[in-house]
Amino acid sequence: MQHEQHDLHGTGAAEHEVYDMEPVADDIWAAVTNVPCPVKDCGQTVVWYEANYGPGYRVCARVTGNGSFGQATIRHHFQARFRNSRAPTLIRHECCERGVPNE
Ligand SMILES: [Zn+2]
Ligand SMILES: [Zn+2]
Repeated sequence: MQHEQHDLHGTGAAEHEVYDMEPVADDIWAAVTNVPCPVKDCGQTVVWYEANYGPGYRVCARVTGNGSFGQATIRHHFQARFRNSRAPTLIRHECCERGVPNE
């Protein structure tokens, strides 16, 4: 994990945690979907969450056997970015975990 400046909300750059994810051959999105949450000691699963947020938005949640998850289990928020096709990252939306999306 490293810290980088990113402007995730168009309101100015702020420091965010950035996680390098394991590349998956020929499928950049697979590297950031249904994989273990990269935040230390979290243990949940990173899931697709673009419906209300846009392309590349992900959260971690406790996924059950049939692939569903409860909203109440959502813990970490991320924006997927790709430095290139071999270097997927998840930028952590600390701002949105606190319920303050426009910081
Ligand atoms: Zn997590
Ligand atoms: Zn945010």
